[in-house]
Amino acid sequence: MADFLLTEEQTQLKDWVHGFAVDVVRPAAHEWDEREEFPWPIVQEAAKIGLYGWEFLANAMGDKSGLTLPVAVEELFWGDAGIGMAIMGSGLAAAGISGNGTPEQVMEWVPQCYGSDGDVKLGAFCVSEPDAGSDVSSLRTRAEYDEAADEWVLNGTKAWITNGGIANVHVVVAAVDPTLKGRGQASFVVPPGTKGLSQGQKYLKHGIRASHTAEVVLDDVRVPGRCLLGGKEKLDAKLARSHEAGHGGGGQPAMKTFEGTRPTVGAQALGIARAAYEFALAYAKERKAFGRAIIMNQSIAFKLANMAVEIDAARLLIWRAAWLAHNGGYKNGEGSMSKYKASEVAVRVTEDAIQILGGYGYTREYPVERWHRDAKIHTIFEGTSEIQQLVIARAISGLRIE
Ligand SMILES: Cc1cc2nc3c(=O)[nH]c(=O)nc-3n(C[C@H](O)[C@H](O)[C@H](O)COP(=O)(O)OP(=O)(O)OC[C@H]3O[C@@H](n4cnc5c(N)ncnc54)[C@H](O)[C@@H]3O)c2cc1C
Repeated sequence: MADFLLTEEQTQLKDWVHGFAVDVVRPAAHEWDEREEFPWPIVQEAAKIGLYGWEFLANAMGDKSGLTLPVAVEELFWGDAGIGMAIMGSGLAAAGISGNGTPEQVMEWVPQCYGSDGDVKLGAFCVSEPDAGSDVSSLRTRAEYDEAADEWVLNGTKAWITNGGIANVHVVVAAVDPTLKGRGQASFVVPPGTKGLSQGQKYLKHGIRASHTAEVVLDDVRVPGRCLLGGKEKLDAKLARSHEAGHGGGGQPAMKTFEGTRPTVGAQALGIARAAYEFALAYAKERKAFGRAIIMNQSIAFKLANMAVEIDAARLLIWRAAWLAHNGGYKNGEGSMSKYKASEVAVRVTEDAIQILGGYGYTREYPVERWHRDAKIHTIFEGTSEIQQLVIARAISGLRIE
């Protein structure tokens, strides 16, 4: 049975992350948004206190209630989403390794996605391509096996990669057998310093500007056979099964990773929504027009009431999905439901917050316009809102809805 009362440990963790968000993240948010650069000093601070690091992630993932990670992430993103992504971005690479790798590969590579508190490193999870974002089954990046050398050779271009090119460890999803589409793909670790991997253009973005997003170019990148996540035997068996069955030989590696991380992405959006709601509520009580606080107008008060309801609804969906992910799995696309709801709520709530602040809300003097920009990415990455609806529609109907 799901129990959404936080334990004492979880409450302490929530307060601890909130304290970091108040003291370190929020005060730095405006600066790093304007600079549009990776906030190394803040990530280093997070590493020093143990908030950035594989041990933190392992402990959070080990929590059987599933709530630890969304609770921590909501607080961090309440502080700032750009900096939050800079701290959480390596987690996607770690999830890609944990979801597809052997225990030995997890032990070898996940810590290298983080480095140490004195020597911070990053991880990047490279799936999307210029012509394959939502349609991850159409990846063009190829991985070919050189049997004589026991090496895989990777060629292609990855687009919009968080930490792309500045990461220590890049996890790359590539087509091994393109005739099998998504079933013919595999994930590879590209170790630090591997020749042939380079950063392409760095994207200039609408929001989460402190998070680094870039192209990753793979030009005859050679990685040892042991860098194939899950190992060759497992891949060969999966490909053989897929050929025999036409399809059905095991899951698509990128989808597997995204399924697991959806409640966490929802929690990111939730943190932004809550920040905007709290700010707008306080402002509406202070700001006077026509001789009274603007909250005394129902149109403003009801907007705030709706914001509160939607935020709580999103949190409940996130916590349910996080709990299910650790206790029996999703049945009706609950992971997608949580991400879809929270990201749409974040966009709407942050827009309403701008409206409540009026002209001030539209200026960069106040944080609500940044929160609105930051919220929008959540309806796009790790599966757009339309793709979440597709996953839910397929889950509830049992039909292959197109
Ligand atoms: C800041 C940022 C960070 C990112 N980080 C990463 C990362 O670290 N790693 C990574 O691999 N990728 C990353 N991405 C890529 C991201 O996951 C993709 O942009 C996203 O999946 C959408 O793909 P696309 O941009 O190609 O859009 P498209 O797939 O071209 O979609 C365009 C529009 O068409 C709609 N659409 C497409 N197919 C359907 C359908 N079947 N039914 C209904 N509607 C449909 C979409 O919902 C969308 O509205 C990042 C992107 C950004 C912007």
